[in-house]
Amino acid sequence: AKRAGGNNFQFYSSDMRVASVEQLALETSLRKAIFKNEFVVHYQPKMDLGRNCITSVEALVRWQHPTMGLLPPKDFIPLAEETGLISAIGELVLERSCRQAMQWYNSGLGDICVSVNLSAHQFRKGNVLEIVDRVLETTGLPAELLELELTESLIMEDLDKNIALLQALRTRGVELSLDDFGTGYSSLSYLKRFPIDTLKIDRSFITELDQSPDDAAITRAIIDMAHSLNLRVVAEGVETDSHLEILRGMGCDSIQGYLISRPVPEAELLQLLETQKQA
Ligand code: C2E
Ligand code: CA
Ligand code: CA
Ligand code: CA
Repeated sequence: AKRAGGNNFQFYSSDMRVASVEQLALETSLRKAIFKNEFVVHYQPKMDLGRNCITSVEALVRWQHPTMGLLPPKDFIPLAEETGLISAIGELVLERSCRQAMQWYNSGLGDICVSVNLSAHQFRKGNVLEIVDRVLETTGLPAELLELELTESLIMEDLDKNIALLQALRTRGVELSLDDFGTGYSSLSYLKRFPIDTLKIDRSFITELDQSPDDAAITRAIIDMAHSLNLRVVAEGVETDSHLEILRGMGCDSIQGYLISRPVPEAELLQLLETQKQA
């Protein structure tokens, strides 16, 4: 125990040691998981509200742990970020997703775009462009069918360098989407400098869209602003028909959320796409 001042004792040192032993064990098994390729990618559809069909899917990684079962990103992405292992994982996800999207493309399921999340660590490493080029070349996927999802804070880490990188990606035809929009704290004046195609409104504004006039006002303002900047808008976390109708009324371009589908394994997504093709 440690004396924290006054009569407050904080018993945190032994807890911290336990945490770090656990952390080390997790880090070791995370390293092994990369070699053993224990990651699986699930796909969550986005529905285009103009065409009323799935035109895009987001790739979301899970870890098929040998003893703990299927682990969600929140159980391992933070540690992967901290240790830098996220770069290797992110590369596996990118490659898998592009290979998968190329199969959908070849199966005549329509042009289905795949969105892949990029982490700040991957940007800091400075080899994103090389990796994207290599993956597009080895999979044969048209660049237009790959979208990368990034956050404001990631771009702001090294603004000029990252803007140049995003421009280079866009020159190749890759789509760029700004994820979790509304939760960052960068000035709106930066937004017009970001070379992006799409804004994704964060789920936190959507969850109570039908009960909170404030959230509705913010959502409407984001959609209008995005459209005046010639950006498309996706709303994430759409769970009810009422959310859908409100967003449709506001002119939102696409929606993603449990209302359409949870993130599903590849085989299940294929069924969704085939059903829609027949419809
Ligand atoms: P995100 O990029 O904001 O992804 C959306 C998350 O919201 C996903 O959680 C998805 O399952 C969840 N979601 C989608 N629709 C709904 C809904 O209607 N209601 C609710 N309550 N949740 C919904 P998931 O799959 O657990 O991923 C969490 C986060 O982990 C992602 O947030 C993303 O930041 C990160 N992540 C996932 N895969 C990758 C990856 O391959 N690379 C990197 N760097 N990060 C990833
Ligand atoms: Ca995302
Ligand atoms: Ca998001
Ligand atoms: Ca979010």
